[in-house]
Amino acid sequence: MKFSEKLIEWYRVNKRNLPWRLTKQPYKIWVSEIILQQTRIEQGEKYYYAFLEKYPNISELAKTNDEELLKVWEGLGYYSRALNMLKASRVVLNNYKGIFPSNYDDLIKLPGIGDYTASAISSICNNEVQPVVDGNVFRFLSRMFKIDLPIDKLKTKTYFKKLGFKLIDVVNPGDFNQAMMDYGSMVCRPKKFQCHKCLFSSNCKAFNSNTVMLYPFKEKRIKIKHRFLNYIFIITNDRKTLIKKRNGNGIWKNLYEFPLIETKKESSVNEIIKELDFKYLKFISEKKIKHKLTHQQLNISFFTFKVSNFDDDLTDIKALSNYPFPRPINKFISELV
Ligand code: SF4
Repeated sequence: MKFSEKLIEWYRVNKRNLPWRLTKQPYKIWVSEIILQQTRIEQGEKYYYAFLEKYPNISELAKTNDEELLKVWEGLGYYSRALNMLKASRVVLNNYKGIFPSNYDDLIKLPGIGDYTASAISSICNNEVQPVVDGNVFRFLSRMFKIDLPIDKLKTKTYFKKLGFKLIDVVNPGDFNQAMMDYGSMVCRPKKFQCHKCLFSSNCKAFNSNTVMLYPFKEKRIKIKHRFLNYIFIITNDRKTLIKKRNGNGIWKNLYEFPLIETKKESSVNEIIKELDFKYLKFISEKKIKHKLTHQQLNISFFTFKVSNFDDDLTDIKALSNYPFPRPINKFISELV
């Protein structure tokens, strides 16, 4: 039996029951694919339902604004995904009469859609022969065929894409792609690989040479950047505080935050006080947390100050839940009494 037939047979028996597998509507598949980038399935499922409830179709999504959208996305991280979805929805409305495309060539032109997402949507919704290449596919195939190429190189991706074209089932490309992803996450897992129950173990080159743990590999180790973010949380007597919208293209673009002082190393409250350009009555407390992103470790300190006679526009602490905040700030807010 061919590789693809064996894999699809396994998939039909073992596939996970996921809500987006009950539909072939490109809009819904797109929503699920974007949510699932960098997100665990269990967490993604909840957001999938919430997103579709708020934006059941492309025209509802295109009508929204950054702030409302980010509120729905709050906690998922990688917020540029959501902002790109908004841009894409407007392109679909203007250039495709509001009908979400299902073919690879149109999909790949939309903001936020790369080869992986275009391949997934076009194979599932349009039966196009477009193999997906993601972390699961890299892992599974690099072990099966002992592919000695670093997966952080662009030309490796091209190699895997070509290999995918050779392996894909041309009759059921959507099922094949979903089967590859499920097999990579359920059997050929990163550390707890299930070689003893793997259908392909007799042909798997890494298994047969006892080198499974060596695949896949990267050329460079990711260098983690340490950042020190000092948030100034002020409270007035009538329990109001100051928040600002984040600009620029860095992390958390367009989300809200407290006034920020970023430093090169950890700072004491006295060092922070020297930087303040407002008068405060009393320093109340400091809370530290660490938050990890893919390439950054954020060392976050919240300095709370009691103030009076503050001129800026302030927000009632009870109303903070109406604004989208990054996850660590939200956690801090949720712990306020
Ligand atoms: S035998 Fe092990 S390493 Fe090889 S494909 Fe199967 S699960 Fe992956």
